[in-house]
Amino acid sequence: MKMYYSTRNVNEKVSFSEGVLKGLSTNGGLFVPENFEKIDIFNKKYLEVDYKSLAFDILSKFLNDFDEEEIKWCINEAYNEKFETEDIVSIKDIENVSFLELYRGPTLAFKDMALSILPKFMKLSKEKNNEKKDIVILTATSGDTGKAALEGFANNEGIKIIVFFPTDGVSEVQKAQMVTQTGDNTFVVAINGNFDDAQSGVKDIFNDTEFNKILNENGYVFSSANSINIGRLVPQIIYYFYGYFNLIKNNKIKTGDKINVVVPTGNFGNILASYYAFKMGLPVNKFICASNINNVLTDFLNTGIYDINREFNTTISPSMDILISSNLERFIESLTDKNDKLIIELMNSLKTNGKYELPNNLKEKLNKFYGGFADDKSTKSTIKNVYEKYSYVIDTHTAVAYKVYENYLEETNDTDTKTLIASTASPFKFTRAVLESIIDKNLDNKSDFELIEELSKITNLEIPKAVFELNKKEILHKTVINPNKMKDTIADFLKIK
Ligand SMILES: *Cc1c(COP(=O)(O)O)cnc(C)c1O
Repeated sequence: MKMYYSTRNVNEKVSFSEGVLKGLSTNGGLFVPENFEKIDIFNKKYLEVDYKSLAFDILSKFLNDFDEEEIKWCINEAYNEKFETEDIVSIKDIENVSFLELYRGPTLAFKDMALSILPKFMKLSKEKNNEKKDIVILTATSGDTGKAALEGFANNEGIKIIVFFPTDGVSEVQKAQMVTQTGDNTFVVAINGNFDDAQSGVKDIFNDTEFNKILNENGYVFSSANSINIGRLVPQIIYYFYGYFNLIKNNKIKTGDKINVVVPTGNFGNILASYYAFKMGLPVNKFICASNINNVLTDFLNTGIYDINREFNTTISPSMDILISSNLERFIESLTDKNDKLIIELMNSLKTNGKYELPNNLKEKLNKFYGGFADDKSTKSTIKNVYEKYSYVIDTHTAVAYKVYENYLEETNDTDTKTLIASTASPFKFTRAVLESIIDKNLDNKSDFELIEELSKITNLEIPKAVFELNKKEILHKTVINPNKMKDTIADFLKIK
């Protein structure tokens, strides 16, 4: 039953439910699956199935200590009318590209695909492991995880959720979504710092033995809703297969044909999920990893050197403003033969020198990936071009992906391979940058909320429920702190002395 092990200690093994509860392994490693069972892509039933049935087949291969009934319960509780479209993921085809619209959930970003189901995993995992303590979900967010986690965990009995976001690093809509969150078990805190400060702070708190002990004595135990939690990654595998079967159904490819996958990347979670799909039998030609100007991953994929000693930039694709991509650790581990010593060495080097370099034999294995980046200017012109050419509105993150895909085509001439692009957010979540791109004008004098109506008018797109009248909601969370006060703030919330 223990099919997951730690990247930093291959002898630390857990079941799915234990991994979900723990978040991180004892020595700060991440849990990874021991094996990847194949999905039989030639099975004709996949040309008929809906999202939920496909979810069942895929989740069954990972939720090793959940029974059939339990998995179905999780799926039905997660993927329901909270999503704006009945098919859960809608797909838009433009020439050789299929945009997987992963943003039809309650918070308008792809994070809903996993965070609407993680709380269900967590509830059952708590019961299975007879965990009587209250679970405290600690989350660092670059904007989208926070709201999606709050939405998923609000009013869940036996669970509290604390979200830290960089005060100037999120869009007006993202901020409004979080600070208006209802639910007695929710706490939202702005940090004077960037996402990496928030994420490092959370990781340090997870690894703080003394603080964990105090927490335990007070009836609490920490877990995580970030993509370091294995329960976040597994649901993200589903839609890559969904996109693939859709391409077959629409006669764009034959079963077995290889496709490209393009993912706008921050923490390397979503693209890692596509790589896991590949390990389960999804035929992939190239993984195209798209970054914004914080292009530490582009450099890594080109050189095998990961180096965060560089300026941190805030951009119009804030959910990708990240220098330390946590899930890269899982990917590198997968290139080795359970070499936990190497992982510890690399991660220590990252912590002390802000840098590591892969050994040569691993560098060679990066060639399944193509890394590229787009700056704000080309992101904006991409939004404009796609809108003018196809009357299709994409958000800033998706535009980064599309631009990097265009660069890839130019470099490789790989125009034959059909391509899935993960479209990760609704344009209404990043309205200012999207509208400014489309009408080519600076809109500083208007609020995001005015711009939402304007974008709707110009493009004829309906305003999604999730942002409708968001500005009229009461602000319930007002705490702003420096990163070194995160621990104290948590203790305050939980009323720990
Ligand atoms: C989180 C997020 C990303 C990056 O996803 P990772 O899994 O962190 O790589 C990209 N786009 C949007 C809109 C996001 O919210």
